[in-house]
Amino acid sequence: MTDKGDFIRPGKGGVDDAEDAEVIVHEYGHAIHHDRVPGYGTTIDAGAIGESFGDYFAVSTGTAAAHRYGWEVGAEEACPMDWDAVSYTAAPHCIRRFDRNLTLADRRNRVHFDGQIWSRALWEIRPGYVDAGLTTEDWDTTMIDAQFDFAADTSFGAAAEKIWAKAGERGDGTRDLIRARFAARGITF
Ligand SMILES: [Zn+2]
Repeated sequence: MTDKGDFIRPGKGGVDDAEDAEVIVHEYGHAIHHDRVPGYGTTIDAGAIGESFGDYFAVSTGTAAAHRYGWEVGAEEACPMDWDAVSYTAAPHCIRRFDRNLTLADRRNRVHFDGQIWSRALWEIRPGYVDAGLTTEDWDTTMIDAQFDFAADTSFGAAAEKIWAKAGERGDGTRDLIRARFAARGITF
């Protein structure tokens, strides 16, 4: 990393954060952004994308992966960090959700809340990739590859366009899907 130390320091609020593997992966998601784009996250939109990606990446490699391998997991896939959230929330314990019907009109200019606008688009594009004959790994790879092109102060629209462009560059054939799912959140380019 360039502007932060090379370590993850989990917090101790409520449940000790390192007890929930999805928290560790979420924080690693921040490290990925900061490694690719020095100083990343100087706007609310950029910060929200950072929070959202961490949540998405945590579930993609956590609950969703566990379900795919047939491991018994009680948590819903749209519900990140369900163990960490037990001290903050009523059941079902979700620190945030991927399936809230939020659009830009709902933004509160808080990165964790607004990130849920972005998360739903990521979450809906994911099965769209499978419907298109691709895999969830293809989607994850395209999205992560696009992050190299994000500006430190990116807007939602600018970042969505980078993902859309990357999908075209990689030959995914999913540009219409990506544009439509972001547009459903009010994110256009
Ligand atoms: Zn975070």
